[in-house]
Amino acid sequence: MDSLLKHMVDMTGHRDHTMLDISVISAVQELASATQTRVLSLVNVRGQLFVRPRAIIERGQPARMEEIADPASPGEPIAQYPALARCIAQHESSADYMNAAGEHTLWLPIWMGDKADTCLEIINPTPYTSDTIHIIGGIVSVYRNFQNLLDYSERDSLTGLLNRKTFDDQLSKMLQASSVEQDALVAVPPDGHERRQHSDEEKQWLAVVDVDHFKAVNDKFGHLYGDEVLILIANLLTSSFRAQDRVFRFGGEEFVVLLRSSTLENAKKIIERFRKNVEEHEFPQVGRVTVSVGFVSISAYEAPVIILGRADQALYYAKSHGRNMACHYDELVSSGRLHTVESNDTAEFF
Ligand code: GH3
Ligand code: MG
Ligand code: MG
Repeated sequence: MDSLLKHMVDMTGHRDHTMLDISVISAVQELASATQTRVLSLVNVRGQLFVRPRAIIERGQPARMEEIADPASPGEPIAQYPALARCIAQHESSADYMNAAGEHTLWLPIWMGDKADTCLEIINPTPYTSDTIHIIGGIVSVYRNFQNLLDYSERDSLTGLLNRKTFDDQLSKMLQASSVEQDALVAVPPDGHERRQHSDEEKQWLAVVDVDHFKAVNDKFGHLYGDEVLILIANLLTSSFRAQDRVFRFGGEEFVVLLRSSTLENAKKIIERFRKNVEEHEFPQVGRVTVSVGFVSISAYEAPVIILGRADQALYYAKSHGRNMACHYDELVSSGRLHTVESNDTAEFF
């Protein structure tokens, strides 16, 4: 019991999803004497569920975040986990499976209402006793409640998107990932020469999105319809970008997207697809709404205010050249349409 209490204290001491994941698998691993425990993300990509490991602990080893081989891949199709797929489809609280070697795998989806984005997976050589299942059930409940609490503090209450408070954290995670990737590229030059900048090089991107003439929507239809438009745009953002991208509501009618590992051409395509999705969407009562976007590549060597300032300048350009368009900062600068003005002032232009 002492050990259980210790784990509970550890789990609830974190203010970060990653650390919470690590502490929950450590607790489950020890209390179930498991051979391996994982936290899995259940990712929905255009109606198809994929399984993507987030954290793992194996017997005799410390818990760690799972390295994802290909960050652009959503993971394995859930069809590769038939017992789990059935459990999710039928909204059940657990599924188990015994393989040919007699190993038992237990899956415990973390249900939040009718959605489960997370699932624990526990592998054991022997069947689970009812005591073990009882204790793990308790841990799962604490984990669910605590995840809920973390989500509540990280998300915007109107749209459910990540809020500005979490932006710095997410950006620095992405910058870290990009500097690791850059170092790896520099360390192994493909032809023995210094690596040149190619337009097909994968980079991280930041896009600032601002609704066009949104004040007019409020003035004409009222604040409630304005709010409805913001919710629908948030949904279009979530469905247009990919699972590995991050979407924030920065305040008012301004949104920020962090795009992971894309070539310029791909980033453009994804952003353009979103802009078009908004343009073509029929907003109930309000009709047509458009957005302007400014975007820029992220470098680990530049301060977040500088990156945001550049995206804002590109957005400002889109706003003053007809709106309903996406502008790339570097392209504007190299074509002489925009002059570089670095400023630490990230005050909103709109
Ligand atoms: P522009 O195309 O230049 O961006 O014009 P705009 O009208 O969108 O820009 P402006 O900054 O003048 O107006 C933004 C408006 O957004 C003003 C404010 O009333 C409205 N707004 C900000 N937050 C909310 C919100 O949470 N709900 C609603 N309904 N309106 C909001
Ligand atoms: Mg606006
Ligand atoms: Mg604005």
